[in-house]
Amino acid sequence: MCGAPPLARSCVFCHTPARSFSSPTVVGLLDYLAAHLPHAQVQRAGLLRRGPVRRLQVHAGGEDFHARFRKGELALRPEGQPADWANRLVAALSRDAAADPEVRRAVSRSGWALR
Ligand SMILES: [Zn+2]
Repeated sequence: MCGAPPLARSCVFCHTPARSFSSPTVVGLLDYLAAHLPHAQVQRAGLLRRGPVRRLQVHAGGEDFHARFRKGELALRPEGQPADWANRLVAALSRDAAADPEVRRAVSRSGWALR
């Protein structure tokens, strides 16, 4: 288990099956990603900007990934379901990991399954 919120029946990041999966959970997803992605730019909510991550942006595998919470909804670019978006992000990071040791370390330290 990598600690990511469950987005699908099988974890998008580490491929561990979620024992009691009912529906995708996106709460905490951006905080989780911010803690594991060395190149992510984040904006946080709250006093002194130390609250939950509201917006996250990362360039990976030649693509730009954006995510932000707006009125409780997670808006993603490229557009898609959270599981598909995260899967695409990990695939992009896997491409970067081949050439960038920092990304490779971050991905393996996170316990994510490279594509
Ligand atoms: Zn996982």
